[in-house]
Amino acid sequence: MIIPRTCKDTLTALEIHHGDLVEFKKTDGKVWRMRLLDTGARILSTTLKTPGVEEPKGMTVFAFHAEVEINGAPHRLEREVGSNRSFYDPWVVDGVHLWLDAVDALFEFMQETHAPCRLQENAKKSLPPRRHARFALQDAGKRICPEPILPWCPLPPDRISIDLCYRGEDCWLGAYDGASAHGGLDINHPRGTLLSAPIDFDNQFLYNSTDLGWNNNRWKGQRHWGDGTVWILDTSHMVRLTVPEHRPLAAGTVYAEGAGVYVGDHDHTHFGFTVLDHGELIRLDPWILFWQMYRDASEGKRS
Ligand SMILES: [Zn+2]
Repeated sequence: MIIPRTCKDTLTALEIHHGDLVEFKKTDGKVWRMRLLDTGARILSTTLKTPGVEEPKGMTVFAFHAEVEINGAPHRLEREVGSNRSFYDPWVVDGVHLWLDAVDALFEFMQETHAPCRLQENAKKSLPPRRHARFALQDAGKRICPEPILPWCPLPPDRISIDLCYRGEDCWLGAYDGASAHGGLDINHPRGTLLSAPIDFDNQFLYNSTDLGWNNNRWKGQRHWGDGTVWILDTSHMVRLTVPEHRPLAAGTVYAEGAGVYVGDHDHTHFGFTVLDHGELIRLDPWILFWQMYRDASEGKRS
């Protein structure tokens, strides 16, 4: 299938099948073409007796890859999850930033029992059960959104490291108990750490709260961008919100005391990132937001 997309102010998120051809029209009007040829995943190390079967505090590091052809040239994109390499820079190929977010093959040895993160199911019987790979794309000359992204929480110096992700595993897709892909990014910080809006939100609210009998306080903020894309950023485990819900929130405003409810072994906040793009809700690695946050912080924007 040919999937046409035009570069916009916010990054483009999409999930595709083997054989699909993405035609991405860049800012300069040139069309950048990527065909997905193959995908795969493998375990690099594990403490599990049986790969794929959770054990308390089990640890697994794995790799996944996509074979693609970009403007006629072959590329092998390979990622690692569960190590410091989880916090990666996008590939830059022919003027496009390319994030390989996930492949469905990794769910041959991982489960999806720790928040949604798997690729979409296909309703049509003529298609494979799931999409094969998830990508985010952006013209390399553009940011991932048209505004600076402010720190969501105090940023760890330099870059996030895997030891800050709960028990050293809960990055995006990381192996909770060695076998459950983590549907978010955990950052350990003390109870009460202040969380701030990284971007302007149109609306924001708790969708689960201890006040209403849930075991956790889970919040989401929504932003409708001028290009039609909607971003949903979410956080969990906050002690309390510090702002009224169901109203806009300006970038930089403190909205919660984080990391104190239902946190398990380590005080941490769980971060999530979902994009509504071309009518599809696509969950992405929150690291992509942090990647831009670090770049913006280093350039001193809005400081
Ligand atoms: Zn988490």
